[in-house]
Amino acid sequence: MLIFRFLIFYLLSLVGVAAVYANDAVVPQTGEKPKPAPTAEAGITFDWVHVDGPYIAMTFDDGPSAKLTPKLLDLLAAHHIKATFFLIGENVAEHPEIVAREVREGHEIANHSWSHPNLAKMSDDGVRGQLRKTEDAIRSAIGNRPTLMRPPYGSISTRQKKWINHEFGYKIVLWDVDPLDWRRPGPNVVCNRIVKNTRAGSIVLAHDIHPGTIEAMPCVLNQLEAKGFKFVTVSELIAMETPIPPKPSPTPKSTTRKSTAPSPTPHN
Ligand SMILES: [Zn+2]
Repeated sequence: MLIFRFLIFYLLSLVGVAAVYANDAVVPQTGEKPKPAPTAEAGITFDWVHVDGPYIAMTFDDGPSAKLTPKLLDLLAAHHIKATFFLIGENVAEHPEIVAREVREGHEIANHSWSHPNLAKMSDDGVRGQLRKTEDAIRSAIGNRPTLMRPPYGSISTRQKKWINHEFGYKIVLWDVDPLDWRRPGPNVVCNRIVKNTRAGSIVLAHDIHPGTIEAMPCVLNQLEAKGFKFVTVSELIAMETPIPPKPSPTPKSTTRKSTAPSPTPHN
């Protein structure tokens, strides 16, 4: 009986110790989260760009696709629109001639990993291999190296962003308009979502591996053109960046955009 009690006490204290360790493991992460966005990643990560003028960047991920990408390229050429392609290394190795065509026609090529894993869950060496191998495939297809990367699923840690930028010189490009076209909701839905949410400086995410996305593009391009948007590559958009002017009116102290401080007057 006494031994039994002792055992329980022992187990309880073990649980206590484990809880303390668990807390320790959690604290630095939660403590880190709210702060780093604007300053630490400024100039490294972009999900949109503040520009003076109606400029936007269309981006297409996960290709090239032997079947669909050439169709998209025909359409972009007919509209004289330059886009940015975030390529999967495996597909580059399989269709280097499509990548060469993308570059010939003025589009930008960027690194989207070799096999589309979740980079945030990988070792540094694993990530390095994914990016390096893709960069090599791109270089052998077009003779140049990319300067942008986009993590699959947008999944990447702040620490990874920093070392990748330092080691590869890549800017990390996310997006602010996502039509969720990979769920294949149909061309009309894809078109409406993009047209409704795109604003000056937007980086629009789409995938040139889904037939419905390609079908949506005539509608997307026509309507965005009708709204007066001008299409540039992501690097061109970034080069146009202008500082965000401090907001003059209602909230007296806000110097950064989107303050998380509780405000008595909700604006949305
Ligand atoms: Zn992707």
